[in-house]
Amino acid sequence: QAAAALRIIARDANMKASVRQSAELYQLLWRAAQRFVTGETLPEALESAQHLAAMGYGLSLEPIGENTEELAACRAAVATFSALIEELGRLSLAETVSLDLSHIGLNLGEELARGHLTELAELARQHGVSLMIGMEESAKTEAILGVYKRTAGRYPNVGVTLQAHLHRSPADLTELMQYPGKIRLVKGAYGEKPEVALPRSEELNRRYLDMAERLLENGHPCSIATHDEALLCEIGRIAGERLPGFAEFEMLYGVRPERLNELRLGGNACRIYLPYGPEWYLYLCHRLAEHPNNIFRALTDIVSP
Ligand code: FAD
Repeated sequence: QAAAALRIIARDANMKASVRQSAELYQLLWRAAQRFVTGETLPEALESAQHLAAMGYGLSLEPIGENTEELAACRAAVATFSALIEELGRLSLAETVSLDLSHIGLNLGEELARGHLTELAELARQHGVSLMIGMEESAKTEAILGVYKRTAGRYPNVGVTLQAHLHRSPADLTELMQYPGKIRLVKGAYGEKPEVALPRSEELNRRYLDMAERLLENGHPCSIATHDEALLCEIGRIAGERLPGFAEFEMLYGVRPERLNELRLGGNACRIYLPYGPEWYLYLCHRLAEHPNNIFRALTDIVSP
């Protein structure tokens, strides 16, 4: 219930406006958000990126945003992504830019999103940058995969995220492995109906493991994006036996950083998902909804001096 409420709050325009208008509320919530968000601006994100890249991490940077509803706002989002890609190129950071297709126009139509994705993929290619498409609610899965498939052949620097919790995903994986792009495997962050997805469970972990094994067996470029200890141990063991150094582990900024560091020191490729931007409030709510224990952490962050 807490998770459902937080998902609604995340998208409530009045709540967002209240946070912006009240300097005190803004400061309090920003304290909690800083655990998960690297900054509000591009220079702040780039500073963190350079620091983490120097430590040996790969990065997925994302200016936070989703569900853009007006054309001008979609163009503004494309300009934000373009500036990020160009800056990464200028700094010779051959990293990944993550994006949700609904941020750049999916809600206004697949053609618009595809056009914008192609524009960004071309720019990214010129700057040695990769793109990773995030996966959104199941109502959008078909459209997102459709746009991806129409772009992936021409742009192998574009990858896509698959949510193991969706019942359709094992079949989608079979098809997606025919495209060159990287597949980022996640459990799935959105509340879905049982007809559509598995809840957190042993069954979901078995499905995740099975999909990860298929990626590794096929030597398909992939990112194992989970913080689940049992999965990390098992996939680490399988990858170590079959393809040492091939699997990439990816975690959210601020979630289990010590564990990711341990994996890195163990010789594994490790990537950090680094979100930033003024829409941090939306992202904070998503992280709290996904793992309600974070609400207590957030309160501690807020009250600690
Ligand atoms: P869980 O079973 O949820 O968690 C396992 C353990 O990890 C928990 O017990 C806890 O110790 C720790 N943990 C997990 N989440 C948190 C948290 N928020 N805060 C603190 N501790 C936590 N989901 C999508 O639906 N679409 C996407 O495009 C997408 N992209 C992602 C990209 C990356 C790089 C990552 C890492 C995740 C992404 N997710 C995405 C979120 C993902 O679907 C899960 O909701 C999230 O990773 C938590 O699941 P888990 O695999 O870590 O396992």
